Amino acid sequence: MAIHKTEAIVIDRKDFRETSYLLSLFTADFGKIHAQAKGAKRKIDKFGSNFVPLSYNKIVFYESINGSLNIISQADLLEHFNGIDKDIEKYTYASYFLELINATMGLGDINKEIFVLLKNFLNFLDKEDKIPHIVQIFEIKFLNLSGFKPRLDSCVHCNGQIFDYSRFSYVLGGILCEKCFGYELNAQKLMQGTIATLKHIEKIELKKLVGFKIVPSVFMELKKILRTFIDYHITGEFKSLEFLKKIRYSYV
Ligand SMILES: [Zn+2]
Repeated sequence: MAIHKTEAIVIDRKDFRETSYLLSLFTADFGKIHAQAKGAKRKIDKFGSNFVPLSYNKIVFYESINGSLNIISQADLLEHFNGIDKDIEKYTYASYFLELINATMGLGDINKEIFVLLKNFLNFLDKEDKIPHIVQIFEIKFLNLSGFKPRLDSCVHCNGQIFDYSRFSYVLGGILCEKCFGYELNAQKLMQGTIATLKHIEKIELKKLVGFKIVPSVFMELKKILRTFIDYHITGEFKSLEFLKKIRYSYV
């Protein structure tokens, strides 16, 4: 039975039998895994972590054989993200990041860059003031790393250059030039400023996001195309977004 060490962020924790937890974890080296933490509910000292969702841990686990569960033998809590935990809006953003990753990554899909992205965004949310468009910034960076990146450099239909006017086709997964508008009638108008902002966000470092502002008209467009694109290409249940819509009223 192989034994492994890795870092893991807890996606979900469910009670399992009387004393154990069944965990869904996003790990640095093994992608998404399910694992059992035997006796974790009763013997609090058995592990150095209680596997609260979002927490960042160092774990040792025995890899499953013949379809049995992975078993965690050791865990140490590296970060609990208190700043996120005590702020309902930040907590909702973080939950959405996990939902998006959970919906996209299959068991065992390894993507260390996405693991680092998630860890960095959780650290950022934990320490910094709220950023109104952090959801969209995460979405852009996540799409960029997950293979769902929308095509923005040239027309998705004819490969032609984009000049002044373009439309975004979430079905085709990118922008259409003026000549090709007719190929997808549901494509949405897109300002040059929105394309430029998308490309800028793909590259911007997290620490430069403090004070980062997006023109409201660009932000509205950006938010709409990202939502339609993600809802079309990624099948998932994004409960936290519904909740976010409700609590946002108290912050706008
Ligand atoms: Zn074209």
